[in-house]
Amino acid sequence: MPSDPHIQIDLAAMAKSGSTASYTLDDAFFGALDQEELTGGQIVVEASVRQKYGEVYEVRCHIEGEVRTPCDRCLEDVTYPVSIDETLKVFPEGEAPADDDMARECAGRNPMLDLAWDVYEAIILSLPMQRVHNDGDCGDSVPDIYLRESDDEADDLTDDEADDEA
Ligand SMILES: [Zn+2]
Repeated sequence: MPSDPHIQIDLAAMAKSGSTASYTLDDAFFGALDQEELTGGQIVVEASVRQKYGEVYEVRCHIEGEVRTPCDRCLEDVTYPVSIDETLKVFPEGEAPADDDMARECAGRNPMLDLAWDVYEAIILSLPMQRVHNDGDCGDSVPDIYLRESDDEADDLTDDEADDEA
C-alpha cells in the first residue's frame, strides 16, 4: 500500500524568500492518494506564501492542468481541464477561526503545510456534478439502461419491419 503523497510547504522559509514553488502532480500522485474519484491527471501547482502577521501566513495556489475521472455513463475516463486559484490562511494550532473554510492550522515553530488534500478537494469541487462524455463519445461498455430511451425507436422500426415481412 503506497503512503499518501504530500505537497509540503515550508511556510516561514517560503514567506521569507518570496519565491513561488512549483509541484507537478501526475498519475502516480493521484494513484497514491487515498481516493477513487480521479483516475489520474497532469497538474502543476504553483504556491507562494506571505506572512500576514505574527505566525499567520497566507498561501496562494494556482492549480492548472487536467484530470481524468470515470464517466458516469460508460465508466471510461473523461478528461477535464483544471484552472483554479485558491488562497489558504494558516494559523498556529488552536487559533484558526472556526467559520473560515479556508483557514488551516499548523503546529510547531517551523510550520509545514501539506497541500495535497486541499489541492485534491479544490480539483474535485471544480468538476461538474455530472461527469460524462459528450454525446457520442462514450465507450462501448455503456450499460443498457442508459440506452433504452434511444432504443425505443429502433425497437419500433424492427417491429414494423417484422410486420411488413409477415
Ligand atoms: Zn462516457
